[in-house]
Amino acid sequence: MREGFSFEVLATSGDARRGRFTTPRAIIETPVFMPVGTQATVKTQTPQEVEATGARIILANTYHLWIRPGAELIDRLGGAPRFMGWDHAMLTDSGGFQIFSLAKLRKIEEEGVSFRSHLDGRKLLMTPEESMRVQRLLRSDVAMLLDICPPGAAPESEIREAIRITNLWAERCLKTEPYEGQARFGIVQGGTYEHLRLEHLEHIAALPVDGVALGGFSVGEPVERMYELLEVLGPKMPQDRPRYLMGVGTPIDLIVAMGAGIDLFDCVLPTRNARNGQALTFRGRVNLKQARHAEDESPLEEGCACPTCQKFTRAYLRHLMKAGEQLGGRLLTQHNLHFYGELTRRARHAIEADQYEAWAKRAIEEMREGDEVKTQ
Ligand SMILES: [Zn+2]
Repeated sequence: MREGFSFEVLATSGDARRGRFTTPRAIIETPVFMPVGTQATVKTQTPQEVEATGARIILANTYHLWIRPGAELIDRLGGAPRFMGWDHAMLTDSGGFQIFSLAKLRKIEEEGVSFRSHLDGRKLLMTPEESMRVQRLLRSDVAMLLDICPPGAAPESEIREAIRITNLWAERCLKTEPYEGQARFGIVQGGTYEHLRLEHLEHIAALPVDGVALGGFSVGEPVERMYELLEVLGPKMPQDRPRYLMGVGTPIDLIVAMGAGIDLFDCVLPTRNARNGQALTFRGRVNLKQARHAEDESPLEEGCACPTCQKFTRAYLRHLMKAGEQLGGRLLTQHNLHFYGELTRRARHAIEADQYEAWAKRAIEEMREGDEVKTQ
């Protein structure tokens, strides 16, 4: 692993593992959830508030920062963590996923992806070299190699072609000048095809990468299929390096994936759902749009130590959401990020006590029984 970085497994319980990932900027206890800071901001939260949820690593999006305000500008201002006032670690994605989901008129060739910016229609070309150059200028702790993420329902031939190009791009990414203080993770694709996933995992894990990620999940495939694949793939991922499941997921997704030995997660769900009036709790989801919360003086979750639950009632939070007040989404985001921090903290304790399976089973049952959204 690159200088300044280390990863150690401190305890295991079944396939689940409790680890410690050290970067030049932070010591990260794993399994861990990385809040998403798309535009160099975790939407509605100050860095101090994000830090208070226990997070020591966040994710920022290369595509967005590349287009606006520009990687060179951020470099001149000291890199993305300094630019946004975040004192801990940062992981940047490669930009690939946003190009596939947001950009217009994209064309994939071996050289790279040409497309038009979703902001102003400007013509751009993303290549493996450009992705690594931009991530170097952003000065993240962890950079991701550029990959192709096909849709969940893509046929095997399309996925094979995506893997072929992803492998060529991975080699090119790794040939670029490494930035001191930045680790590089490779991405495994393969859709829902187990044989392709296993083959690609073997290929990526054999490269000189500092961590291995699973991409292309939660892109429209049935969730049960993702769980089956995680149970096969997780334990086969490298023992000595961090394992990252990209863009996933719900609290139950995390519990299943942690059980399969995944260490790192990111997802927009806790922050995005908060802005839509949805809180996540150990008793399931709380939808503040439901009329039954109108005069409810209880907190979002009894016993939650977050600043929102310390001070505000469901009735007041519902009022803020109904009135379209910005404070509503802000307070819900704070709770949801605390909840994800607490969920992974409890998982780490369960692994340390070698009780992961029993803890996971109970936690999932309690979330499903108390799923308030389903009672709508
Ligand atoms: Zn709370």
